[in-house]
Amino acid sequence: MTDEDAVDRLRRLVRVPTVSYADETAIDPAPFDELHEALVEAFPLLHGELILHRVREHSLLFHWKGNSDADPVVLMAHMDVVPVDETAPWQHPPFAAEVHEDAVWGRGTLDDKGSLVGICAAVERLLEREFSPARDVWLSFGAREETSGRDATAAVEELRSGGVTPWFVLDEGGAIAHEAFPGIEPPLGVIGVAEKGTTTIELRAEGRGGHSSTPAPDGPTARIARAVVRLEKRPFGASLPEPTLEMFSRVAPHAPLALRPVLANARRLQPVLKRALLAAGPEAAALVRTTMAVTTLSGSPAHNVLASSATAAVNLRLLVGDSVDSATEHVRKAIDDDSIQLEVVDANEPSPVSPTDDTAFELLTSTIAEVFEDAVPTPYVMMGATDSRHFTEICERVYRFTPFRMTKAQRESIHSYDEHIGVDDWLDGVRWYTRLIEKLEP
Ligand SMILES: [Zn+2]
Repeated sequence: MTDEDAVDRLRRLVRVPTVSYADETAIDPAPFDELHEALVEAFPLLHGELILHRVREHSLLFHWKGNSDADPVVLMAHMDVVPVDETAPWQHPPFAAEVHEDAVWGRGTLDDKGSLVGICAAVERLLEREFSPARDVWLSFGAREETSGRDATAAVEELRSGGVTPWFVLDEGGAIAHEAFPGIEPPLGVIGVAEKGTTTIELRAEGRGGHSSTPAPDGPTARIARAVVRLEKRPFGASLPEPTLEMFSRVAPHAPLALRPVLANARRLQPVLKRALLAAGPEAAALVRTTMAVTTLSGSPAHNVLASSATAAVNLRLLVGDSVDSATEHVRKAIDDDSIQLEVVDANEPSPVSPTDDTAFELLTSTIAEVFEDAVPTPYVMMGATDSRHFTEICERVYRFTPFRMTKAQRESIHSYDEHIGVDDWLDGVRWYTRLIEKLEP
């Protein structure tokens, strides 16, 4: 398959609008069926040689038998994309996959059809030359990633019931990130080794309600408002998880002179660094603490009716080291009001931290060094959630890395508008997946 053919296949698959919605009944199944058919057409050897296990309605799990019984590798990507906001000012239509300025434009080019088609193209090319991997390779392509649907847990179940214990799992996540760190010139090859957890706690205050002409003090709305203000005044303490400390030491040699000693001695200088990061804006602060945001508020349904109950939802992103229980306790103490009920409505713990000092991580970083010579590979803690968090149940090495160069503007286009991937950048990504599979050892 020539580079040109490969790029055509990427464009073909970006044109299929596999949009998923949180309300699964709103999802049109037709584009997912069409995508499957397009995959069969685009990658005939892959579909001929690998064994396909269907997972729930639309997710795919392919098994590529390797030359040894060594623990297999799982390469992940997802087929669904987030909806397009019709009012967003896309320069080029989101599902046309047009090529402009040596880039393919469209929803999913970065998240995550670039990886989906990149993995398939790598496998197809290897099969063209009758290559077979040194150990089994599984491809897990989810159809409900953007909605945190149940497909990923079903894929894990399928592997578990087949007795599959992966050596490592690779999903989307970090990238070859240009302009990632202020003052640092080379791009960083950031590999997510952990994810923050997501939890929502609903606060509820109850009262008698009644007519608004005769209010009593300290009603439900007043107590909820006070709780919100108290939360704002008592943020979580800062801490630097191990992968973040390691990131600092790995990027230190590339940092501006003034910053170099601070990053190189990050372990010793933790208090200074924490203060600096907390002061450096919301993104930097989110690196070092569990964050909480009050997102929804409710009170009375009418202007002249006292609320008989008022609620506030607190959405938390748990840093590695915190837990749903410890965070709930923090919220309870910060509010300091027994009349307010707390209900954890959604609980996802932070993921375990995958090792960075073993051969699996080394394989990823050496492949980065080979294909992206200027990049500095480093672990980091991801802010967002991916399907791969479910795979931590069957595998202790779960890594999140998308092998494409991305500028800051490209990273910001994900889930937004003007998503596009450089043609050469995508082809480098295909080479990266190809080398990764070639370099596997029994
Ligand atoms: Zn994604």
